[in-house]
Amino acid sequence: MPTTATPTAFLLDESCFWHGGGNYAFLAPVGGLVQPIQGGLPESPESKRRLKNLLERTGLLAELVTRSAAPAHEEMLRRVHDGAYLKEFKRLSDAGGGELGERTPFGPGGYEIAALSAGLAVEALRMVLAAEAHNAYALCRPPGHHCLPAHPMGFCLMANIAIAVETALAERRAERIAIVDWDVHHGNGTEAIFWERGDVLTISLHQENNYPRPSGGVEARGAGAGEDYNINVPLLPGGGHDAYLYAFERIVQPALARFRPDAIVVAAGFDASGVDPLGRMLAFGATFKEMTRMLMQSARELCGGRLAFAHEGGYSELHVPFCAHQVLEELSHSTIHAPDPLESRIGGQQPTRRQIAFQRGLINEMAEFFLL
Ligand SMILES: [Zn+2]
Repeated sequence: MPTTATPTAFLLDESCFWHGGGNYAFLAPVGGLVQPIQGGLPESPESKRRLKNLLERTGLLAELVTRSAAPAHEEMLRRVHDGAYLKEFKRLSDAGGGELGERTPFGPGGYEIAALSAGLAVEALRMVLAAEAHNAYALCRPPGHHCLPAHPMGFCLMANIAIAVETALAERRAERIAIVDWDVHHGNGTEAIFWERGDVLTISLHQENNYPRPSGGVEARGAGAGEDYNINVPLLPGGGHDAYLYAFERIVQPALARFRPDAIVVAAGFDASGVDPLGRMLAFGATFKEMTRMLMQSARELCGGRLAFAHEGGYSELHVPFCAHQVLEELSHSTIHAPDPLESRIGGQQPTRRQIAFQRGLINEMAEFFLL
């Protein structure tokens, strides 16, 4: 249980809200017949800044240990990323910004902001492993779970969680770490980085065939020493509260118990929200709160409660703050509660009993496939 000596840490930095760049109209490059849209890409600072605002407004922020962190330094970055990629990223960033890879524009200083975003994740995991916090949440921006060692994609410029995990392992703060990714998109970058590794279990729950494609199938289970240490749980579009919680019960919790990690890191995207423009799922505040509760239970049983979150996607400026607030309520055992203003709307759109039974059947098949 938390004490005053080990509260929930909340890592953030205003600089991360200043990351930007590119000339997009939502997902399409501007040009020809595509008129610019104010705000450009759906990945904007507002959903994250409004989370901080909501935490301030409800008073929960005052119950957390709030601080920034040092940027991840080059040695940390090089444990995951190719030197040539980092060099080119830094060169373009110093020259005023640019774009490498796929939908990953950045402005001046973008390299430093991305390293800071990774640094927040590094610090969150370090604090948890050093027992300086009971658990921790890093409000990373830009996100990280799509980024490959030499190829940024899907708004992700550095692999924040992979950098944090490699740092913890290199510094011998842990020997085995599990990553649970509930972002609506497949955590392809994390999967690729740890593909042949038996000391890092990667689990991704995502909407089947969303982004990237083709990616995230159940048959992708890792290779070599990493065989069976990558678990993909593709869910049908339209899945909601029951699909996520049932997948947690049947697959995520048993897989964690089998792996016995020293810590659990969560890739916390909020784009499984029922109003997210880049997802077609039906999760809401209570879904994220309950998934957090289940992960806390696993962490308590397996690794002394050591649990660190890194913020990933989520593009509803209205809904992300309420979903994430419920995660932080749960992590900190707070009595402060911000009701989800969309709970009755999204709650009323949940799948029918017939659809739920079908989805549960697919989840059971997957659990059997993974021998869980
Ligand atoms: Zn996402």
